[in-house]
Amino acid sequence: MNAPRVRFAPSPTGYLHIGGVRTALFNWLLARRFGGTFILRIEDTDQSRSTDESIQAILRGLEWLGMNVDEGPYRQTERLGIYREQVDKLLADGKAYRCFCTPEDLDEKRKIAIANKETPKYDGRCRDSTESHDGQPFSIRFRSPTEGDTVVKDLIKGEVTFNNSVLDDLVIVRQDGLPTYNFSVVVDDALMGMTHVLRGDDHLNNTPRQIHIFHALGFPLPEFGHLPMILGEDKSRLSKRHGATSITEYEDMGFLPEAMINYLIRLGWSHGDQEIFSIQELTEVFSLDHAMKAAAAFDPDKLSWVNSQHIQSQEPDHIATLLRPFLGREGMTTEETTRDDEWMRKLVVALQPRSRTLVEMAQSSAVYIRTDIEIDEQAKTKFLKPAIKPALESLAATLQTVSPFIHDTLEPAFQSVLEKHELKMGKLAQPVRVALTGGTASPGIYDVMELLRQEKTCERLTKAVALIPNTQESA
Ligand code: GLU
Repeated sequence: MNAPRVRFAPSPTGYLHIGGVRTALFNWLLARRFGGTFILRIEDTDQSRSTDESIQAILRGLEWLGMNVDEGPYRQTERLGIYREQVDKLLADGKAYRCFCTPEDLDEKRKIAIANKETPKYDGRCRDSTESHDGQPFSIRFRSPTEGDTVVKDLIKGEVTFNNSVLDDLVIVRQDGLPTYNFSVVVDDALMGMTHVLRGDDHLNNTPRQIHIFHALGFPLPEFGHLPMILGEDKSRLSKRHGATSITEYEDMGFLPEAMINYLIRLGWSHGDQEIFSIQELTEVFSLDHAMKAAAAFDPDKLSWVNSQHIQSQEPDHIATLLRPFLGREGMTTEETTRDDEWMRKLVVALQPRSRTLVEMAQSSAVYIRTDIEIDEQAKTKFLKPAIKPALESLAATLQTVSPFIHDTLEPAFQSVLEKHELKMGKLAQPVRVALTGGTASPGIYDVMELLRQEKTCERLTKAVALIPNTQESA
């Protein structure tokens, strides 16, 4: 493929939706894979719904994902003169015309059509009218062909045929002088030299209209590819009621950008049965050949799994940097979390295999960072029993003398206590785990001790000992 010029063209009317991210991603990866250019164009001609806040959310989202933009952002409202020039050409060529029908008129006709169970369609009243309408407000309509078919040769869907009789003369400039989507998108895609237009298949019905406008303006057609929508678990289009749909929500939930990209691209594309990809790898193997035709459902469990894989495969120091803000959000103070890089690295290495998100990792970090822990009642009843008290006591005493306090010296110390009390590893490890972490699931026990360091380890063991009654109950 020659270097493609592709674009992401969001309308800035809300947050950055993960469906939008998926569209952006297809374009971005195509550009990266084939040495192309990825362009960001903000389609803000619907001024009543467009906000700067939304533009910021889009920019921040792309930045967080690492999807760098080569050109733009262009803003359509800054290009109104360009659209005007192209409209004038169409008017001069008779390929567009002024329509003086009032919104009230049009509304009335629409209602009648609906009442008669017909599809509302512009009746062409102003198409060939020569009436003069001095000073009256007007919109501009495109003269669409009324006969024949238009075939969209879609890179993903294959050939899709539209009957031209269903296309009415669409408004390309509204009464307020602003161009409509179908017009400005064509002018921009043509003048910005797009080679491919990849977007959601909710736009497929617009494509035959846009093709006619391309032809009318004398521009060559780009290639089109329409991506199936992302569905919710109930197979309806993914929306808020299925859960989080904004990319920032996923950032806040502790997902990694690489995992979001990996998951979202796999939702509409495959490469054998490979599930986990680094970004680098995607930029080497991505192509449209294996883009899926059918819509796929968003699966939060799979996303969590993909995230856990990326958490595991990344450099611990990098994860540590990402983890820090999450520690704060879990309520740990800067004072509590002021730890050296070496310690943070150890913490991350211990938690990497057991965290699906950075939020989970931060939650699991708390027991190593906080001064006090709460012991789970059930775990306490089950594991902190009088029978184990002497062994815990002697472990606390033995560990006071271990130096340096590291895995290699902790292991023989622990073994000596097992031997002395004639216990198997499993009998003592779990009560120790409960004493040190408050629960029954944690990384390896020596890693836990190393992370807690000597003082905290001995203190927690002593505290647990104090919780256990002396009497040997018959339980
Ligand atoms: N602005 C359109 C939207 O956000 C995008 C249209 C396109 O990609 O052609 O849906």
